[in-house]
Amino acid sequence: MSTRKTSGKVYLVGAGPGAPDLLTIRATRLLARADVVFYDALVAASIIDLATRAEKIAVGKRCGRHSTAQRFINKRLVDAAQRHTVVVRLKGGDPMMFGRAQEEIDALQKAGIACEVVPGVTSALAASAELGISLTRRGISRAVTFVTPRSAPGKAGSNWVRSVCAADAAAVYMAGGEAASIASTLIANGLAPEVPVIVVEDATLPSMKKTSMTLAELQASSSSVTHGGPALILIGEVFGQDISTRTIKRSDEYSLPAPAASLCA
Ligand code: SAH
Repeated sequence: MSTRKTSGKVYLVGAGPGAPDLLTIRATRLLARADVVFYDALVAASIIDLATRAEKIAVGKRCGRHSTAQRFINKRLVDAAQRHTVVVRLKGGDPMMFGRAQEEIDALQKAGIACEVVPGVTSALAASAELGISLTRRGISRAVTFVTPRSAPGKAGSNWVRSVCAADAAAVYMAGGEAASIASTLIANGLAPEVPVIVVEDATLPSMKKTSMTLAELQASSSSVTHGGPALILIGEVFGQDISTRTIKRSDEYSLPAPAASLCA
């Protein structure tokens, strides 16, 4: 009798920044086919619900909150692929942007498991869209940097400060809780205190909050710049616009189709 295990495929899928209708069609189709879905803390329930036939497992990691060790997640993905055909690993935004995707890809590859990445809308680009402010602009912004001051415990820090100082526009991820100290660090390293900043929290969600200020004002701010939701700090000349008049209104027609047969063919 054969004891050969089946081996499925693991899809690292981007869930986008929050609004369920920003999911890609490819992601929607995969969720409909999934046998099991491992999802992160930032993924909306209405997106997870699209996986109608799947076993759904939370493996969320949020700073200071519940954390599932990455190595354990890697092992669960490998185990799941040995039992199921379609395994979806659902991550907020784009899986390849500060999403620990590489660690999972490497672990799957090592175990001989097939893996595919499905991109999603990363939160900085969603925030840019919501503000109606292009991160690039002729004559003002030709170099954009995506950074985070956060590094894994025991790992070397990154050159995020140098990168922000050298870029025309910066999107700082995982920064909401330490916004004032980030501003202090940047000013201490030579960034002009009057550089415009916009903090965007919960981009694309009904709870979205946008606050514009200068870097010096951010330095003087309290932690109340955000309300505990995921937030980005956007820094650069392009963000010096009056966002009350620049905001592009979203259409109320954007709603997520019910797990649509036409999309899930
Ligand atoms: N892979 C994700 C980023 C994961 S790191 C992406 O591509 O967007 C988590 C950080 O992303 C948060 O701390 C925050 O800085 C940012 N983020 C995620 N969703 C966000 C949202 N809806 N609004 C603002 N920032 C968000």
